[in-house]
Amino acid sequence: MAVKHIYIVVGTRPNFIKVTQFKRVAAMYEDIEIKIIHTGQHYDTKMADVFFEQFELVPDHFLNIPPGSPNSQTAEIMLRLEKLIKENGAPDLLMVVGDVNSTLAAALTGYKLSIPVAHLESGLRSFDRTMPEEINRILTDEISGYFFVTEQSGINNLAKEGKPEDTIFFVGNTMIDTLVAFKTKIDQSTITAQLNIADERFALMTMHRPATVDNKEGLLKLLTVIENITLYYKLVFPIHPRTLKNLSDFGLAESFNTNKNIVTTPPLDYFSFQKLIASSEFVITDSGGIQEETTFIQKPCLTLRPNTERPVTCTEGTNTLVPFDADCIARYIAEIHNGQYKSGKIPDLWDGKSSERIVRILADIL
Ligand code: UDP
Repeated sequence: MAVKHIYIVVGTRPNFIKVTQFKRVAAMYEDIEIKIIHTGQHYDTKMADVFFEQFELVPDHFLNIPPGSPNSQTAEIMLRLEKLIKENGAPDLLMVVGDVNSTLAAALTGYKLSIPVAHLESGLRSFDRTMPEEINRILTDEISGYFFVTEQSGINNLAKEGKPEDTIFFVGNTMIDTLVAFKTKIDQSTITAQLNIADERFALMTMHRPATVDNKEGLLKLLTVIENITLYYKLVFPIHPRTLKNLSDFGLAESFNTNKNIVTTPPLDYFSFQKLIASSEFVITDSGGIQEETTFIQKPCLTLRPNTERPVTCTEGTNTLVPFDADCIARYIAEIHNGQYKSGKIPDLWDGKSSERIVRILADIL
């Protein structure tokens, strides 16, 4: 029986979180071997190493690309991945994950070396081409041969773009596989005690999209929103490196010091962060993945964006797109406070078994 070799390329925090179960599942198949390639796009302890440690996942190869602009990182990933493939032999399939620069760079490398490319979390569209992630999603799907999809909108988008029906697989959400697999560890986290908020009602915030945090106007608006929330709740705000850099570049980093209701932290490890989501009153974010995690655990989520590439989180889940407007946000917070906020349901196939479905499909098609 010939063994089929699969490379999964990851590069950023949300990528790591989406691939934690593949090796475990593949170990049940004699003829499937999965290797994880880490590009190094996210490279420091808090954005990368801590996740590999918690997930007990060791990348088989580390491309160790240097920090740099999106173009230089894309180019470095392509050069180093090609070299790795030339030295080790071509895998039977290259799987790329999500919508970051590593996703597109790896897909392009595979395509140009005539290696079949599969896209995990395919077909999502915000229809907003000002988002760098949207370009990565569209171009990656354009050169992929197999499409693993988390929600119905992804199937519809890929069908409209002319992808053959038999290459599109509705498998559910591997990010939820990770939440399910590590539930006990998450429950055991002591982060609320560590942050001194175990008995508090608090909101949890993350913000890192360029549209929000790369300009002073956006950051000032964000500070107003934070002021409003902290009139009613404590606010826990793990600050993404990009946001911290911009706050400091615009001279706003000290703005939090006077407000006793804000608890800022560095980016948190996975178990701590999930425990905070579960213990919070609501989450306010511009993240992609957090819209899905809150939908799964049915926690109110206010997403400060004009669009989402994950519409099922709004139509079925607990997510709401909210304009970046203090009054509007205040209205939703009042709804949550008064117990009037909508309840949601868990989308189809978000059941912790998506990685199993994908490996079964790969065993069939390769
Ligand atoms: N996350 C985390 N620690 C944090 C903030 C986020 O573990 O301090 C997790 C979060 O639960 C989700 C993922 O990181 O699983 C989302 O990453 P991010 O928001 O950076 O990326 P996006 O999903 O927007 O691409």
